[in-house]
Amino acid sequence: MAQSTAVSRRNFLKQGLALGAAGAAAPVMAMTPVDKGIQWDETFEVVVVGSGLAGTCAAISAIENGVKSLVMLEKLPMLGGTSAISGLNFAVVNSHLQKQQGIEDSAELFANDMSKAGGYQNHYELTLKMAETTTRALPWAIERGAQFHDKLKFLGGHSVPRTLYPIGGGGNGILRPLRRYFVETLNGQIRRRTKFEKIYRDDDGRVVGIQVRENYHFDRTLANDDRENTSGVYKNYRITKGLVMASGGYSRDVEFRSAEFPNIREYIPAKTAIGATSGALKSMIAAGAHPIHMSLMRFSFKIPTEDMKWGTMVDPKTGKRFVNEQNNRQTLAEAICYMMDKNGGVFPRNIYDQQGIDSFHDKQRLGLALKEGTIVKYDTLEALCDAEGINLTGLKATLAEYNANIKAGTDPLFGKNVAELNGVTVEQAPFYAIKTQPGFTYTQGGVRINTAAQVIDINTQKPIPGFYACGEATGGMFGRIRLTSCSCPDAFSFGIIAGEEVAKA
Ligand SMILES: Cc1cc2nc3c(=O)[nH]c(=O)nc-3n(C[C@H](O)[C@H](O)[C@H](O)COP(=O)(O)OP(=O)(O)OC[C@H]3O[C@@H](n4cnc5c(N)ncnc54)[C@H](O)[C@@H]3O)c2cc1C
Repeated sequence: MAQSTAVSRRNFLKQGLALGAAGAAAPVMAMTPVDKGIQWDETFEVVVVGSGLAGTCAAISAIENGVKSLVMLEKLPMLGGTSAISGLNFAVVNSHLQKQQGIEDSAELFANDMSKAGGYQNHYELTLKMAETTTRALPWAIERGAQFHDKLKFLGGHSVPRTLYPIGGGGNGILRPLRRYFVETLNGQIRRRTKFEKIYRDDDGRVVGIQVRENYHFDRTLANDDRENTSGVYKNYRITKGLVMASGGYSRDVEFRSAEFPNIREYIPAKTAIGATSGALKSMIAAGAHPIHMSLMRFSFKIPTEDMKWGTMVDPKTGKRFVNEQNNRQTLAEAICYMMDKNGGVFPRNIYDQQGIDSFHDKQRLGLALKEGTIVKYDTLEALCDAEGINLTGLKATLAEYNANIKAGTDPLFGKNVAELNGVTVEQAPFYAIKTQPGFTYTQGGVRINTAAQVIDINTQKPIPGFYACGEATGGMFGRIRLTSCSCPDAFSFGIIAGEEVAKA
């Protein structure tokens, strides 16, 4: 492996020490002063790390605001990160569709919805800034080629219908036109297989450059690509205006996420892109960035959480219930992870009868789940238990008790609000089963920023000059639960803001 620049032993040691201390209390040595003898291979005004939605918006916004030399880096051969494989439903305040439909909305109402979902653990000033910025982010996206259906979704946790969704295949429906605009209209430069490695700050604390590895070959077969991969050629890029980190989340990094939240073991699948590891985040922390909300993670299920309540969720090993099925997604996923720790990694099953299935509020997702075989229909309970590997005796006892309790209007075991069930029990064949597998779609944790997308120094609690971040790489916006369809507006809003601010630097 070639290394074009000899990073000094002093710097190397400081970097190593800082990494070791990451996550512990305010490491004073976290700053990595630039070595006076460093050899710069190239100079840019701005470097953007990550080619997802946040990075693409930041890069466009920076160039449009006057930045002349900018490069966007992507460690993978393919572009787009998790943004490309996501639905990118986009919650927006005061959109043209809300106006057409006479829907009253405000940034405060949106921010309050997010705060409520997040258990008020969010940094409200960020949440509000994001909500306000969506109003200009939507026309900004449309003017640069993104297209949206002319319908609004009214999603759970939002006070009013405010969510748009892209035409043309989810996330790529937004990303492709934006990337085309960046490359073809703005002559934007993208370097694939170029991995950001670490940050250089000078004696005043300003970010003055980064180390990268060009010709990097990400290896998904490695247990820890960030640590074990030795491919690529080291280069140092000098940065005169600022670094924008848009490197996404860390949900694919089993080692790192388990350190933060031990119950989320390797069998809980991450649905994010393969590049969602923690290497970039660790390097930001090593350079002094304040990590925040690292153990908060978001889950999704193949059926709407609201429709869990129509049935019973059981541990297949015992056939017994273990949670109130009416809980929110986070509480359900946490209970499932805890239960699976005990039963050796067997996913629970939700059991419904026809009445329960007919009660689903989201018929579109129900139809999809039935078509895809996510929900399977059985003529008898015996056939269901046989095929799904469920303890029949245990399940029969569970259902007998559950049905009697629902009819009596109480759930003494888990406190389900029986009044909401309209008498729906689980007793008449045919029966339906679904493997209740929480998927991991988002990590709320990341580096702390202010409303100008500047990264906050853990020691001084002040913005680090020349250091910006946006999108899932940041933390503090959402708190305990990220409200649905709110990462896309975060990536848009803070991507645009990061570009504007770095251009001013
Ligand atoms: C299945 C699914 C559906 C979703 N649906 C929605 C939805 O409908 N609405 C919504 O709001 N949110 C949704 N989300 C969440 C949302 O898609 C993401 O949070 C968002 O796209 C993140 O964008 P980003 O630009 O911050 O990161 P990403 O899109 O992940 O981009 C980060 C990029 O940085 C690269 N990178 C990382 N480290 C380095 C490095 N060291 N050097 C160079 N490059 C690096 C990565 O490879 C990646 O390409 C969904 C997520 C999933 C998994």
